[in-house]
Amino acid sequence: MTKYTPTKRGAALLQDPLLNKGTSFSAAERDALGLRGLLPPRVMTQHEQQRRVLESVRHEPTDLGKYLDLLSVLDRNEALYYQVIINNLVEMMPIIYTPTVGLACQRWGEIFRRSRGLYLTSEDRGHVISVMRNWPYTDIRMIVVTDGERILGLGDLGANGMGIPVGKLSLYTACAGIHPAQCMPVTLDVGTNNDSLLDNPNYIGRAVPRLRGPAYAELVDEFVSAVQELYPHACLQFEDFGNSNAFRFLQKYRDDICMFNDDIQGTAGVVLAGLYSASRMTGVKLTDMRFLFLGAGEAGIGIGDLIVEALKAEGVSNAAAHRQCWFMDSKGLVVQDRSDLVDHKVRFAHEHLPVADLLTAVEILKPHALIGVSGRASAFSQPIVAAMAQHNARPIILALSNPTSQSECTAEEAYAWSDGRAIFASGSPFAPVTHSGRVHVPGQGNNAYIFPGVGLGVVATEATRVTNEMFFVAAKTLAACVTDEDMALGRIYPDLSRIREVSTSIAIAVADVVFARRLTKMPRPSDLPGYINSQMYHPDYVDYLAT
Ligand code: NAD
Repeated sequence: MTKYTPTKRGAALLQDPLLNKGTSFSAAERDALGLRGLLPPRVMTQHEQQRRVLESVRHEPTDLGKYLDLLSVLDRNEALYYQVIINNLVEMMPIIYTPTVGLACQRWGEIFRRSRGLYLTSEDRGHVISVMRNWPYTDIRMIVVTDGERILGLGDLGANGMGIPVGKLSLYTACAGIHPAQCMPVTLDVGTNNDSLLDNPNYIGRAVPRLRGPAYAELVDEFVSAVQELYPHACLQFEDFGNSNAFRFLQKYRDDICMFNDDIQGTAGVVLAGLYSASRMTGVKLTDMRFLFLGAGEAGIGIGDLIVEALKAEGVSNAAAHRQCWFMDSKGLVVQDRSDLVDHKVRFAHEHLPVADLLTAVEILKPHALIGVSGRASAFSQPIVAAMAQHNARPIILALSNPTSQSECTAEEAYAWSDGRAIFASGSPFAPVTHSGRVHVPGQGNNAYIFPGVGLGVVATEATRVTNEMFFVAAKTLAACVTDEDMALGRIYPDLSRIREVSTSIAIAVADVVFARRLTKMPRPSDLPGYINSQMYHPDYVDYLAT
């Protein structure tokens, strides 16, 4: 993919974060590129610079302080930033993404220092493409777009949601080696209905109520068309849109352009992978499992749909596969007699008497897995976890709501209330827990296991569509990366430190689908793994004087 060599000199070179090496410019480079005197005299190695950044980040007393420290490195030296992130992923992921990114979005107005990402507003209607032409790079391959209406489990954060596309794209680069200059974070600032933001003098967005209806849909359409025209090989990821818009846009665009929705499809991939691993641990086959979801929104329905796809691949009928998935929403169990169900819930509405509360649903349905995607903190109470443990030797408890404060239960609660038998994973990370002398390592159902690899597979093959089959093979590939040692610790996902290797394997599997389904005009490379590897960005400094 793109290789960047300096066309700039002197101060302009130092101010370009894609080219700047800071104190690592050698004496010869300083002379040749007009840098002498503009940098402290001591030339440092990349390794020394990383150590300095790490010391500084670790010295920051708060997570938000660490986030800002890292963001300032990203603003001045991207290669250094990615070296630090890649070499310390387990430590850095919770800072650059959930949970800290949620805090950063809530405080975006106060912490804003330098613009990252492209803002499009309702006032840009009619000339979106000319605004997009202001973006400094042209070979864009990966775009993450949000309208900020449902940021993590935190609700409407309006233009402050920009932290999410910025964070997700940095994970594309860190976890799957998509070049930073090929990544474009976009926020559609269509207003906000969050009163505290509307009243906040530091709010960075347009302090107007959300645009709705045809005008809103036209803005999104115009943006999508501009992407097709300017960046024909780009993959467009929709992120943290409100529930009905997320489903509507996925439905509207998925068969026509290269796009997906990570909240719906990426989440599904990572959870399905976790269920495959849990099935290895419990010995209960996926085809014999019942799943009960708390929350029937983007995440829940996306997971349900992919489970159905996985069950059908094993020969289960469509109707029977749907019947293995049960949903509770804020009005109770999703059943056929309910008249208030929106489209995406109807296919999972089974014939059953109404059930108002989760404990009763667990006792009646006896699910093997309880999956929390409700954004409702502490919804998995002690009696609910205990009921799961009564019906299952190894109850599968996935408390996926983000950030940590919204989790349906904590890791400690899941292990304590199930007498140490729960197979537990969460959306935001929890530290290992010792219960009755045994150490349990909670899994993190982090979408970052899935979307970077899928994105790399799609982008590297110039795929024209992103399909659910790609998330299915991604889930299988991720599950296959879980080792017996992981399982022995109770972990249903591989160690995060292996994420680049995992993403590469996923990208190869996804690329295989792209070629098998003829979703690209590109000829299949004879050595697909070698080709995928060759497309990955490595943040190593280059010698600018080498010929
Ligand atoms: P959403 O708004 O689309 O759906 C939320 C659902 O929860 C709705 O169906 C709503 O009816 C239901 N709900 C709300 N209150 C409830 C209650 N009291 N009882 C039962 N159901 C209730 O949101 P989403 O995109 O599906 O995300 C939901 C949560 O999942 C968020 O906290 C998000 O951070 C988390 N999530 C985690 C991951 C991950 O861990 N990998 C990925 C995506 C989403």
